[in-house]
Amino acid sequence: MNKMTVKDVDVSGKKVLVRVDFNVPLKDGEVTDDTRIRAAVPTIEYLLKNNAAVILMSHLGRPKGEVKEELRMDSVAQRLADILGEEVKKSDDCTGQETKHAVQELKAKEILLLENTRFYPEEKKNDPGFAKELANYADIFVNDAFGAAHRAHASTVGVADYIPAAAGFLMKKEIDVLSSTLNSPEHPFVAIIGGAKISDKIGVIENLIDKVDTLIIGGGMANTFLKAKGYDMGESLVEDDKVNQAEEIIQRYNEKGVELLLPVDLVIAEKMQEDADYKTVEVDGISKGWKALDIGEETSKKYFKIIKEAAAVVWNGPMGVFEIDNFAKGTMKVAEAVALCKGKTIIGGGDSAAAVEKAGVADKIFHISTGGGASLEFLEGKELPGISVIQEK
Ligand code: ADP
Ligand code: MG
Repeated sequence: MNKMTVKDVDVSGKKVLVRVDFNVPLKDGEVTDDTRIRAAVPTIEYLLKNNAAVILMSHLGRPKGEVKEELRMDSVAQRLADILGEEVKKSDDCTGQETKHAVQELKAKEILLLENTRFYPEEKKNDPGFAKELANYADIFVNDAFGAAHRAHASTVGVADYIPAAAGFLMKKEIDVLSSTLNSPEHPFVAIIGGAKISDKIGVIENLIDKVDTLIIGGGMANTFLKAKGYDMGESLVEDDKVNQAEEIIQRYNEKGVELLLPVDLVIAEKMQEDADYKTVEVDGISKGWKALDIGEETSKKYFKIIKEAAAVVWNGPMGVFEIDNFAKGTMKVAEAVALCKGKTIIGGGDSAAAVEKAGVADKIFHISTGGGASLEFLEGKELPGISVIQEK
């Protein structure tokens, strides 16, 4: 990566404004998964150690530009304090006199967490006035929020108009891993793309044609491809307006000689329910009124072998409705294969990360991206605004 990082700037005695991705799941006001908080710790600890005053900001949930009591950052501040073993001061606002005062009072080696940035409609609008107010708190901006890097908001992009911007360690790691795998992968390079809808991931599938040796397709989106191949998909989730595009993609992969694998058998059921009857059929045997909810055993065995032997793997999107055990087997088998693969393995996508957790193999994955949407856009080959604003070395 050619971008400036926190290590390239002198932070000692400076106030450093850090955009982190503390958009964590909450239940009854408590943080239920602190992965994202932990992921930001190396940058925060580095700044403290190097004598900076650290001002943190993040969005949390979707308050839609209003103050929502249940989306305040207090429990996040508490969890961060527990993880760091340090005091974390918390402002109940992002702007205003009290926040300004708290920032002024903040000393080197101290931490202040601002309130949820999305309480302000100005955040998503990337309002210059709001961005300037935030930027005025500090000498340097550090963007460590890879998970929000695909959004051009005031706290991810706007502030960089006023103060120099550098990448945090998490941001650097995400960029390094994803770009090296995409641009100079070891071969065979295998991509596994699944999830509900093909429309979410057409850009990724199109960008990967020049990169991968094999593209493995599963999940709901496989249905649209199978329909393009002429199969009757019954009541399965199919995007009819994308069937032509799916056909074109199959053709282009063919012409380029890049392997594109589709399921050969499927687990089907009458309903997407825990207690629904289900059975495995070949792709040409979907019963009238039934729907495909997972890849079948023959398919997952075939995928397993290819994934296990790969030198690089990128996985985005589960192979079936893995939230329901009867339809989770294909996804679990793929997770197992990715875990056994000795190559560089990367997981992007929130549900795929959850699937790897469910399979109990998260610690056997080379890199689980903290950014769902951001990693997807990265795989599409798009430039992410939150990365663009970081200065080149
Ligand atoms: P990720 O978050 O990893 O990018 P997606 O959000 O694209 O993944 O897709 C995950 C969702 O896709 C899951 O909720 C899963 O239940 C759903 N899904 C997978 N296969 C099917 C299918 N055959 N029919 C309907 N939904 C499916
Ligand atoms: Mg998802």
